Amino acid sequence: MTAPEHIFPTGQPQAEAPCADSRPVAAIGIFESKYIHSSLAPWCLAAGIRQWAPQLRAAVCESTVNRPVEELAQKLIALQPAVIGICCYIWNMPQVEALLPLLKTALPQTPIVLGGPEVSWRTAQVLEALPQADYVISGEGEEPFARLCAALANGKLSTDIPGVCSRMRPDAPPHLPCGEWPSPYCDEYFSALDGRIAYLETSRGCPFSCAFCLSGRCGSVRFLPLERAKAELLALANSGTQTVKLVDRTFNCDRRRADELWRFIADEYGKRIPTGVRFHFEIGGDLLDEENLAVLAAMPKGSIQLEIGLQSFFEPTLEAIRRKTDTERLCRNIRTLLAAGNIHVHIDLIAGLPLETPQQFAKSFDTAYALGAHQLQLGFLKLLHGAALRETAAENGFLYTDAPPYEITATRWYGAAALERLHRTEDALERLYNSGRFTLTLEYLLRITGLRPYALFDGVGEALHGTDTQSLSLDAYTAAVYGYFCTLPGVDAAALRDVMVCDRLATNRTGRLPTCLQIQDPAGLKAAAKTLPPAPANTRRGLAVLYTQNRIVWADYTDAACDPITGRWMLRDMPFTQGETP
Ligand code: SF4
Repeated sequence: MTAPEHIFPTGQPQAEAPCADSRPVAAIGIFESKYIHSSLAPWCLAAGIRQWAPQLRAAVCESTVNRPVEELAQKLIALQPAVIGICCYIWNMPQVEALLPLLKTALPQTPIVLGGPEVSWRTAQVLEALPQADYVISGEGEEPFARLCAALANGKLSTDIPGVCSRMRPDAPPHLPCGEWPSPYCDEYFSALDGRIAYLETSRGCPFSCAFCLSGRCGSVRFLPLERAKAELLALANSGTQTVKLVDRTFNCDRRRADELWRFIADEYGKRIPTGVRFHFEIGGDLLDEENLAVLAAMPKGSIQLEIGLQSFFEPTLEAIRRKTDTERLCRNIRTLLAAGNIHVHIDLIAGLPLETPQQFAKSFDTAYALGAHQLQLGFLKLLHGAALRETAAENGFLYTDAPPYEITATRWYGAAALERLHRTEDALERLYNSGRFTLTLEYLLRITGLRPYALFDGVGEALHGTDTQSLSLDAYTAAVYGYFCTLPGVDAAALRDVMVCDRLATNRTGRLPTCLQIQDPAGLKAAAKTLPPAPANTRRGLAVLYTQNRIVWADYTDAACDPITGRWMLRDMPFTQGETP
């Protein structure tokens, strides 16, 4: 197998070493959202070149949206390619638009081909808006891109390749093949991966058709043969990455196939799969049956993570977005998964959906929160090009940003001010709940104040309105929320301090307390420390006196004491009374 060349994503453009391979180059460029991500798309296109246009040499050039656009331009130009392909997503479109003129100026004769979900469903509009783009691929890109590159490298102007749109044929229908797709994994891919998150695709398409999503528009679901899926899974697990993220849209839409792959991971974990590697799956929570749940309950602790989209618990909203959900079964299944304690569970809600008012959203939020998942992600509706919901913007009163990511700013049911306020609630949710750093604090506050979870996070968001919370250090943020929490009815500042101390010791291996939680009592602390069993050799210990409970609490920061699901260190405690000497 001939590997594509890879141009490294960071650092200054390098002078290219002379290449013995004299084949014309099909260069594929992508701006990743962050360095840690490594999209499969350019490697899939390179695999297409290997399969359908082996007379060409594919070269993948990666950069990120945070690097100067010129950097990727120079890498692509240095290759003097016969054709350039650019992968387009909602996260990188501004960079792509800035890149195109640079490429066209330097290489006026080189055809530029765009592809990816951000352009695939509006090809004519893209060709009109971006004069430097010569072609846009609609649908799956591997075969159309390769056949187009082959034709262009031969000097042919190609207009009749399925899925290839040009100014002569701007609306060609999407290429939606039905067979297996070529494997993107090759030696060059693995050397470029460099420990980043690895992606694996064992199925394409989704059997559902939620109105905000594009995945249901890609034809019927296709599955890789299980043997290939297992081989690729093993290869990625041994690539040096810590996380293998499956991009299958609904991994468990075939229940028995999902069991087979989960069992395979369980059987191989610690053998051909290194311990510590995590596999992340997006699943339909209400699709899990008893057999699935039994398989999942037997997974090695920390080996897999599940992401489950709830989106809403409001039935009319679910109906409006064409999302059939058995919400009772969904909740039951999530509770069962969490009770087993071996899997990190992440659930998602979307704000700004049709018919959902702020009051309804707060109810959905509280229902979701009560499930007790490790993460609750609050996303805002995005009206993607090609998604059915985008067509209903007028009737739903959707206002959204013109530029990607086309995020909702108001709906008929959710006003602009309320949605803006919800962003602050989401910020509080991220820092307090999803960070996992304030678990006991939140439990205490909800119990003592009687507030509903939504009201609590909303209150924090409003209390910190005007503060740039993203720039606050953890200590400064802790001080800010501690001050606010002390004003809530029923909260005892000293008792709250003790609970926050426990959270801090469980989540920070320095064992150091922020100033706002420190009590100057060196003699008490010294006496308390003497009462403890010795710490394991070469182990840092964090300890504190809980004055309202007359207890001493401590954590020994060993890897073994850290829960792989929550990332929290085990706390131990024992009675301790001030003034006591051991
Ligand atoms: S949101 Fe999920 S279930 Fe719905 S169509 Fe998209 S991928 Fe499929």
